[in-house]
Amino acid sequence: MDRHRFPLRRGEGTSVAELCDELFKAQDLGTVTSDCHICGSSKDVPIETLLFNCYAQAEIHADETLRLTIKHWLSSYLAPSGVYHGVWCCGQNVQTITALRKTPRFFAFSIARSNLALTRSLTLTVSKKRRLTLRGIVYFGEFHFTCRFITKSRDVYFNDGAQTGRQCILEGNLDNMDIYNLLTCRGKSASLALYMQSL
Ligand SMILES: [Zn+2]
Repeated sequence: MDRHRFPLRRGEGTSVAELCDELFKAQDLGTVTSDCHICGSSKDVPIETLLFNCYAQAEIHADETLRLTIKHWLSSYLAPSGVYHGVWCCGQNVQTITALRKTPRFFAFSIARSNLALTRSLTLTVSKKRRLTLRGIVYFGEFHFTCRFITKSRDVYFNDGAQTGRQCILEGNLDNMDIYNLLTCRGKSASLALYMQSL
């Protein structure tokens, strides 16, 4: 990693948005296609990031009684019929179809302000059915990030780089922890969830 762009400044930090852009850069992942019914224009945009912004999709919140999860969001986002997520043409919201070419090793979901709940795992079928499991959660609050990471044996560790350094605190096992409680952590809210393919 380029230390000029991302200096190791203890206690000061670096731009997390920029860091995420760099970490989640991807190639040949798939395409987002938007078709305008009025002018007939069609546009293909390659997917170049493994970070999906869940904030951008509002219409799946229609049913207030159901607590939606990342799983709901993803199946809606990848629906073959397409979704509306803020692409405009000819003064109207245009439907976009997101098609993946392959299942990436990991996915990150930006869930800040989305009101989405986490799931322990999710499946994704591109050419083969793949299971992705929750392996990390990043929390933001008071201009400082902390995280929980989850091992292969599903043990959940807490880390606060500024306070505990590389030392991590074992909090429990994912299977026995309340998935909704994982949305907050010591006064901070979950902003990013990381899912990895189970190998
Ligand atoms: Zn148009």
